[in-house]
Amino acid sequence: MRAGVGPREHWEVDRSGATKIFSMAVHKIVLFYVFTPLADPEAVRLWQHALAESCGLKGRVIVSPDGINATVGGEIDDVKKYVRVTKSYAPFKKADIKWSTGTGDDFPRLSVKVRPELVTFKAPDTITVTEDGVQGGGTHLKPGALHKLVEERGDDVVFFDGRNAMEAEIGRFRGAIVPETDTTRDFIEEIDSGKYDHLKDKPIVTYCTGGIRCEVLSVLMKNRGFEEVYQVDGGIVRYAETFGTSGLWDGSLYVFDKRMHVEYGENVKSLGSCAECGEPTPIYVNCANEECRKQFLRCETCTDKGAHPFCGDCVPTGAPAESSPEPTAGFTPEPSAEALAP
Ligand SMILES: [Zn+2]
Ligand SMILES: [Zn+2]
Repeated sequence: MRAGVGPREHWEVDRSGATKIFSMAVHKIVLFYVFTPLADPEAVRLWQHALAESCGLKGRVIVSPDGINATVGGEIDDVKKYVRVTKSYAPFKKADIKWSTGTGDDFPRLSVKVRPELVTFKAPDTITVTEDGVQGGGTHLKPGALHKLVEERGDDVVFFDGRNAMEAEIGRFRGAIVPETDTTRDFIEEIDSGKYDHLKDKPIVTYCTGGIRCEVLSVLMKNRGFEEVYQVDGGIVRYAETFGTSGLWDGSLYVFDKRMHVEYGENVKSLGSCAECGEPTPIYVNCANEECRKQFLRCETCTDKGAHPFCGDCVPTGAPAESSPEPTAGFTPEPSAEALAP
């Protein structure tokens, strides 16, 4: 029997000589951002929308006067075409594209929008963006350079999570500081609270999913007197592609699409634990209270048993168990580029 793989199918020739073709669509998701001045964001939006649509992609693209931030997915050849054409536009030529494997049903739709900011810190600071990217941010560290810094400076190095606290619950850099943030807008208040002032002369390494939030966060921290600020180049995604969990990263990576979490390597244990049984789990579910919908961690086994429908804030008092609403089987996050991290 001969067999082969074409761009979109897998074929086999059996003994009778008949060729059987099996569909073998491979789905990919790409994540990238470019900080660069765009004179006409609306024109870029129209072009990106037409391009992504013609490639049959879904996901989210944000365009602003400061650049682009995108998370889109589709069949591998279509995604490749989208990336090739996107990079043919000179301002996006240097886009650092992060690829990951999708399921084919990772986003409900395609959304391409113009926003005033690529990431919403609601900071009064003016961020200066040139063709070379954000000016005055933390020094970018590739995975190897990050390890070198830690080797040289040891425990002095402070990892500072640039994501929302919920994301860090299932995975983070070892020993990282996780600010108390529900949304990216909470960072300024956290930093201004003074609780991190003792770290102002330490080497600080900020990190987030794909790196975009740290481009801005590292500027905000430097503006507020943190003297030595670094950022993980390409974010956790790039780091974990290189070192998995054999380096300084532990647990699962929270992602803003239907996958909800990604593991780098076999037998990775999430750092989070089920609200019911305490077993490690990376799975967030929605509180069954329609008015709450807060997300909390619950393992598959407990979800299957219908256990723990409510979040810690909504435990019903004295309600008979059978009158409890059905627990939600899983949560469907809003499609979101990292820029829209709540
Ligand atoms: Zn459980
Ligand atoms: Zn609740």
